[in-house]
Amino acid sequence: MDRSEVDALGSAWAKVAPHMVRLFRDLWACPELPGMEYQSVAILTEFLKAHGFLVEVGIGGVPTAFLARKAGAAGAPRIGILAEYDALPSLDNAALARRTGTGRLPGHGCGHNHIGPANSGAAIAAAMAAEALSLPGEICVIGCPAEEICWGKIALQEAGVFDGFDVLLTSHGDYQNGSLSRPCHAMASGEFVFRGDSAHAGMGVLRNALKTAEEAMAAFIAALPDRFPQINEKHVFRSAGIMPGVMPDEVRLWCSLRHRELGPVMEAYRGMERIFREVAVGTGVEVEEKFVSACRGYLANDVLGKVLDDSLRIVGAPKWSAADIAFMQDLSQAASPGKPFDLHRDITYFTDGIDYYAQDDGDASWIVPLGRVNWAYPTGVPIHNWAWTALSGHAAGDAGPLMASEALALAAVDLLIHPDKIAQAQAELAARVGPQQIRVIPPGITQIMQTNPLAFWEARW
Ligand SMILES: [Zn+2]
Repeated sequence: MDRSEVDALGSAWAKVAPHMVRLFRDLWACPELPGMEYQSVAILTEFLKAHGFLVEVGIGGVPTAFLARKAGAAGAPRIGILAEYDALPSLDNAALARRTGTGRLPGHGCGHNHIGPANSGAAIAAAMAAEALSLPGEICVIGCPAEEICWGKIALQEAGVFDGFDVLLTSHGDYQNGSLSRPCHAMASGEFVFRGDSAHAGMGVLRNALKTAEEAMAAFIAALPDRFPQINEKHVFRSAGIMPGVMPDEVRLWCSLRHRELGPVMEAYRGMERIFREVAVGTGVEVEEKFVSACRGYLANDVLGKVLDDSLRIVGAPKWSAADIAFMQDLSQAASPGKPFDLHRDITYFTDGIDYYAQDDGDASWIVPLGRVNWAYPTGVPIHNWAWTALSGHAAGDAGPLMASEALALAAVDLLIHPDKIAQAQAELAARVGPQQIRVIPPGITQIMQTNPLAFWEARW
């Protein structure tokens, strides 16, 4: 990109940035559970409409998804910027360097209150610059709810929403500033409902759902090293009784499994279900499997990775003030006492290894080239923790997503100026995928999330 092109984007982005910062706070103040992001969608779509975007809410049969496109800008290439905005249950906290949360309410412990405005703002700025530079092409925002349960983008992909896009761009907070061209994990999750008898605990029950669920989980964990090597297992008991005097007749166990590849994840998921049923046969407890969702890890794309890396190097690392650093030091100390303060302050291009997380746009990256920028939090601030919620609501958290936003906007303009880079990214994807047919595994929660997401969250679906 030449100087005038970079400047056109820079001045457009600078006009939008203060609005983004206001929306970081607005979204943070109304943390909404996955699939119930009604206020967040209203806030983001108002922002986009105010900048000339046409908005359609509820695309692909996903009630809190949206598509925003600039009026009159239809045409090739078509760039999709993904926005996320869901919060996490139990991670409420004030924007302070100490734990204040109840552990009972939602909070932005993954920083999606940044992603929604930063990525929407990137699209607005890129579209303004494209207009000023008379560039052909279309920049859209795809509003993607329910990332945290790996449902939203999978449902959108199943509905064909990503099919018409040439590239997808996104961002997220993590522990480094940089563009990624490397995989993350594949994931599968499901809820298992164990049904037995209820009675006074002193009387005992014949069919003990809780004990069976505990034994079933322990049997699967014991089988992991030999039968399902390299599977990472996590689970929670979603409902397991209220008081020990009443044996619960229903116990719900939500399990999630990870691995580099989708195949071993699904094999382990089915193996887990078999083990649960074997244990339950012995106790007479009934087991119902309720599949939640599964997704592939990211498919790396070096062409897009480098486009984003070039943009990041023009934008530069996050511009934290001394006050920002001081707050992050206090927060790190509170969340990870005794751990030395550590914050990545450069720009690095990441191609080696595999990221620890799973993402519901993993599958999308196998059908459309997907580029992602990360921004750094201090390593003493654990992700999916009250401290991440605190930083996501504090001014010290702004510099990272602002860097990511400007870099995404610059990359989008760069791709409109150089559509040959899009063709190269698509060729790279085709070479990496080869003859495989990429289809998502249909999620099991689509109907309940479309009709009654609260029932899902209250574990009565
Ligand atoms: Zn996240």
